[in-house]
Amino acid sequence: MPIVSKELNVMTGTYQNVLELIGNSPLVKLNKIGQGIPGEVYAKLESYNPGHSTKDRIALHIIEEAERTGILKPGATIVETTSGNTGFSVAMVSIVKGYKCILAVSDKTKGEKIAYLKALGAKVFICPANVPADDPRSYYEVAKRIAAETPNSIYINQYFNLKNLEAHYLTTGPEIWKQTEGKITHLIACCGTGGTLSGSAKFLKEQNPNIKIIGVDAYGSILKKYHETGEVDKDEIYPYRIEGLGKNLVPEATDFSLIDQFVKVTDEESAYRTREIALKEGIMGGYTSGAAVQAYRQLADQFTENDCVVIVFPDHGSRYITKVFSDEWMAEQGFTNSRLNGLESNATI
Ligand code: PMP
Repeated sequence: MPIVSKELNVMTGTYQNVLELIGNSPLVKLNKIGQGIPGEVYAKLESYNPGHSTKDRIALHIIEEAERTGILKPGATIVETTSGNTGFSVAMVSIVKGYKCILAVSDKTKGEKIAYLKALGAKVFICPANVPADDPRSYYEVAKRIAAETPNSIYINQYFNLKNLEAHYLTTGPEIWKQTEGKITHLIACCGTGGTLSGSAKFLKEQNPNIKIIGVDAYGSILKKYHETGEVDKDEIYPYRIEGLGKNLVPEATDFSLIDQFVKVTDEESAYRTREIALKEGIMGGYTSGAAVQAYRQLADQFTENDCVVIVFPDHGSRYITKVFSDEWMAEQGFTNSRLNGLESNATI
C-alpha cells in the first residue's frame, strides 16, 4: 500500500500570473531505483515549479519579503550570483514584477543556460569558477560590486541570506510532511547554499526530531568536512563537474546543526545515476538528482523496512541534454566504463 497521501497537487486552476504556480511540487514514488533497499523512496520533483527548479521558491520569497519591508522600490534592479537555476528564478520573478535583473554566473555554466537567462531578460556577467570566493573576479565579488554601484538595487545573496532557508521552512518542509502523512524518516538533498535541506529540515524536525537529515556533497567541496570538524580545509577545494552541488566556502544559509550526516558522491557515479533514473523511472532529473540518488544508494545499509525516504530532485534533466545525457560528453569526461552499457536505451536511429 502506498503510504503517501492521495490528496494530489493537481494544477487545474486559473492563475493571475506564473508566480502563483510556485511550490506544491509533486512527490513521486521511485519503484525501481531502490530495488534491494528496504523501505519506500520518493522523489520531490522540483522541476514542476514554473521556472523548473527549487530556486523559484527562494527567489519569490526573498523578493516579496524585500517588497514587504519596503527595501524594493518600483523599477529596482535585482542582482544575484548563480550557477544557473537561481538566475532563471530571479529573472522570472523580476519580469513578472517589473524589476531589472543582473546575474553573475560561473564559467562552468553551459551556453544554453546563459541563453535561457538572457531570454528571460537578464543581463549576465560570466566569472571564473576556480578562483577563491574573495578574489575580485569571483562571482560573489562581482555581484557585490554591481549591487554597490547600481542605485535602487538589492543583492539576493542566496548563500548568506537566511530568507533562503526560510522559504523552504515555509513551503518545501510542510509539503513533504503533508505528502508523506508524517511518515517521512529520511530526507536526502544536495547542498549548495544548503537552503533546501536545512530549511525543510527545520520544519520536519519540529514535527518529528527523529527524522534523519542527509546532505549530499561533492568531492572538491568543503561542506562535509566542515560539518564534521567545524573547520574549512582548503585542501578539500578542487574542481569538479556537478553544478549546484557543494561549496568552496561556508554558506550561512545552511543550518549545519539540523543535518545529521553528509555523504560525498563522485561526478562519475552521479552522472550514471542520472541516466539510470531516466531509463528506469522515466524521470528526467538534473545532474544533482542523480547525485542525491547516488547518495541514497551509498547509504543502502542504513535503511529498514518501515523507512520512508524522500529525495529532492532540484531541477529537470532537459538542462543537461548536452552534458550527462550526451554519450559524447560522458566520453569526454572519461566516463567510459562498462556502467553505461547496462544503461542503454532502446532508441535506434
Ligand atoms: N541542485 C541544483 C541543480 C542546484 O542548482 C542547487 C542550488 N545551487 C542545488 C542542487 C542545491 O540547493 P541548495 O542551494 O538549496 O542547497
